[in-house]
Amino acid sequence: RFAELHLDRVQRAFGDTVALKGMDLTIKGGEFVALLGPSGCGKSTALNCLAGLLPLTGGRITLDGKRIDDLPPEKRGFGMVFQNYALFPHMSVRRNIGFGLSMRRTPKAELNRRVDEAVRLVQLEEHQHKFPAQLSGGQQQRVAIARAIVLEPPLVLMDEPLSNLDAALRLEMRTEIRRLHQSLGLTTVYVTHDQEEALALADRLVVLRLGEVQQVGSPEEVYAHP
Ligand code: ADP
Ligand code: ADP
Repeated sequence: RFAELHLDRVQRAFGDTVALKGMDLTIKGGEFVALLGPSGCGKSTALNCLAGLLPLTGGRITLDGKRIDDLPPEKRGFGMVFQNYALFPHMSVRRNIGFGLSMRRTPKAELNRRVDEAVRLVQLEEHQHKFPAQLSGGQQQRVAIARAIVLEPPLVLMDEPLSNLDAALRLEMRTEIRRLHQSLGLTTVYVTHDQEEALALADRLVVLRLGEVQQVGSPEEVYAHP
């Protein structure tokens, strides 16, 4: 686990649109941070910059003092969970979860052991030999989460992971995500426009507005001074 991830005046422009206007933020290892704010405020851009999917147009990102903003996504090794799951339709649940490990040439015995554990953590034992099309939305989202955590990433990035689920399942998966974060000692950055979800999940809220950090604080602090 890292000690500190630091965004230092991170800027990202798309032509004339400046989506992030010099974002400063420090994330401590083990924290659950929610990026919150209305549509278009720059949440996804910030997450994609962290992941390495979008190059910065200014500023830098450091992990324990080392620059990472020039590294491609695979060198950063962060886990990613998106709202549209992006599972491989022709692979079973187990193969979807094990895919990243097999790409890293993980020995078969270890791969099986780690896939077993991830399947158990997200409670998909009964469904592990099925294909994505045979699963409910919530089960597919569990596969996406298992696929991210099986690699034991230093940082897990989630972009509105529950927005395609119905209200009851959203609540259930919210509890599940918080439980996994806690029990695995993850560091999680979670993007949402849902204030209630952010309050329920995060240790710290980062409220973005028009590409700038408007407020940072614990849920209590932000809630007391909205
Ligand atoms: P959020 O995730 O908070 O809804 P985004 O990070 O997606 O916000 O977008 C922030 C701003 O950047 C918006 O004005 C959006 O239109 C713009 N933007 C995002 N991605 C692109 C892109 N690929 N090309 C052009 N503009 C973009
Ligand atoms: P089967 O294909 O044997 O009917 P599954 O597809 O459900 O059953 O399970 C595949 C087996 O291969 C599991 O034991 C799993 O741990 C392992 N596995 C997972 N990912 C991969 C992979 N990318 N390549 C090879 N084996 C994998």
